[in-house]
Amino acid sequence: MSGTHSILFVPGDGIGPEVMEEVRRVIDWFARKRNLHVEIEDALIGGACYDAHEVAILDETVEKAKRADVVLLGAVGGPKWRDVPFEQRPEAALLKLRKELDLFANLRPAICFAPMADASSLKRELVEGLDILIVRELTGGIYFGTPRGIEDLGNGEKSAVNTQRYDSREIRRIAQVAFLLARTRRSLVTSVEKRNVMETGILWHEEVTRTHEREYSDVQLEHLLADACAMELVRRPKRFDVILADNLFGDMLSDEAAMLTGSLGMLPSASLGEMDKDGRRAAMYEPVHGSAPDIAGESVANPIASVLGFAMALRYSFNRNEDAALLEQAVNDTLEDGVRTADIWQEGCEKVSTSGMGENIVSRLESNAAAS
Ligand code: NAD
Repeated sequence: MSGTHSILFVPGDGIGPEVMEEVRRVIDWFARKRNLHVEIEDALIGGACYDAHEVAILDETVEKAKRADVVLLGAVGGPKWRDVPFEQRPEAALLKLRKELDLFANLRPAICFAPMADASSLKRELVEGLDILIVRELTGGIYFGTPRGIEDLGNGEKSAVNTQRYDSREIRRIAQVAFLLARTRRSLVTSVEKRNVMETGILWHEEVTRTHEREYSDVQLEHLLADACAMELVRRPKRFDVILADNLFGDMLSDEAAMLTGSLGMLPSASLGEMDKDGRRAAMYEPVHGSAPDIAGESVANPIASVLGFAMALRYSFNRNEDAALLEQAVNDTLEDGVRTADIWQEGCEKVSTSGMGENIVSRLESNAAAS
């Protein structure tokens, strides 16, 4: 795709700036060697923003995020900001961005690179080559539904309530995301719910089926009860391509799928907003891990989750599938070469720093490009 892509770069706190520096290195390579035109603007977020401005995020940063094609986030938070006012805690900046950009679709890939297959709790043959994408509804369902609360019954007992509520539109728009993404992959969507015991499950099933029939019948659709899906994920995970789930089930299933792949330092995620009439949608890419204050400043953090977040941006926002695959292949080959940061180091491998990992990934991009 031609044109210039605008990126808002928000490295954040702790290891955020360290790992994002390696993303910058990778972006530079794509700009020089693959004709990727990007405009990068930097902004503070989280504790770093609080230190400078006494707020977790500036309104002008939110506006820049709305205008940018993608937001690339490092991580926020840390013990230094434990006592800041509740509404200015670093995590509040993320919630504000998600809300203001209406990022209702959360994408969590679970990819198992062959050299890392032994880090999984499952047998190598079950996970080697695994490539699943979990599409989770992020702004509705039981985490937001009302009524909610805890009531004192006055007899020494209490009663608590949460409400699971979905309307047709919320289900349709997340289903559309899943079908569209499946088209860029292996074209199979597995929609999960509990229609056997929940009315929201019945509506979910109906709306997903109707959306499929109307607009996406070229994609294969199957329905699975959420508990059956949890079992299948550890029994035969490679049977899945895209898993579509509500907020609650998506939360559980994406963590389960993540653990199939081994390490926290390897896992990216994306959050997408609604598509406008020009086919453009807000998007934020970030690693699943946090700011890791225990290792911040030591140059030992693994930058792969953030680098793979950029691969997702290439695929899902910039429509550059080939470049995304190139980057994922370079990460795979770097691991195959035995290059490891401390968190994924094994006997016989070479231990490298954060920048060492970035340099090796770029060398692999370079040598793979020369060989092709
Ligand atoms: P964490 O993910 O930061 O760290 C958990 C453990 O994993 C730590 O031992 C850490 O050293 C290790 N780790 C994480 N990422 C790594 C990487 N890339 N390379 C090597 N090792 C890595 O989770 P936590 O300790 O629970 O949280 C620390 C801070 O991060 C808290 O303030 C929390 O609120 C925040 N947090 C932010 C986000 C986000 O910005 N999206 C997400 C989760 C936690």
